Parts: sequence; structure tokens; C-alpha cells
Amino acid sequence: MQNMMQYFLQIKSKYDRLMQGRHGFDTLTGDVLVLWLICGFINGFVGSRIAAFVILVFPVFAFWRMFSKNLAKRSAENEKYLGFRRKAVESFKLSKRKFDERKTHKYYKCSNCDAQLRVRREKGEHTVVCPKCGKELHVKIR
Ligand SMILES: [Zn+2]
Repeated sequence: MQNMMQYFLQIKSKYDRLMQGRHGFDTLTGDVLVLWLICGFINGFVGSRIAAFVILVFPVFAFWRMFSKNLAKRSAENEKYLGFRRKAVESFKLSKRKFDERKTHKYYKCSNCDAQLRVRREKGEHTVVCPKCGKELHVKIR
């Protein structure tokens, strides 16, 4: 047991030495690897050799990023990706919410600032005030 612990500690110290000054693992790298697994899984059914070769770009890119010593550039890429990812997640959540509430609420986009406005689905004309910019919007629900 003691030998096993020492062995793992040696591996850990070798890994730490290898990764010194390198970018390492981040969200973009992780997501690229997950994408690789998903594509590989799908290609397991399709069985295309060309696709299997093209899919190899994902792990090569991920490991290249992990071992890169240009920390500033890799961090900037990750930040940019995180912003994109956050927007995509928010957009997905909004779509899901619109779908879940499709029988009770209707969504409108403010013509002034593009904010989402939620109106209870009640027949008639409604005046909605955008909470973001204060613009009044007249909507008609049939
Ligand atoms: Zn607005």
C-alpha cells in the first residue's frame, strides 16, 4: 500500500513537471474532448473511415491546447469560448422555458432593446412595459 502511494506520488510529480508552464486542462479542451467522444460514438454506428480520420482533429487540438506554452492566447480563447457557451446555454434555456410555458404565456421581443417580454396568455389587447428600457409594447392575444 505504501509502495502504491509512492508510485502514484511519483507519477503526479512527473505530471506536474511535464505540465509546468503549460496551459493545461480547461473548459474548451474538455468540451472538445466530449465532442470527440460523441462524434466517435456516432461514427461507431456509421463506420466511416474518413470521418474517423477527420474526428482525430479533436483530440489533437485538445492536447495541443493543453501542452501549449502560450498561456495568454489559450486563456483568451477559453474566455471567448466561455462567452459563446454561456450565450448558447441561455438561449437553450429560454427556448425550453418558452416551450414549457407555451400554453400559459407568450413571449415577445422588445422592439427597442431586444429583451424578452413574457405575457400571460389571456385573450385581448395588452400593454407591456419593457423592464429593461421602459418602452411600451401593445400586443394582441387571440
Ligand atoms: Zn426594451
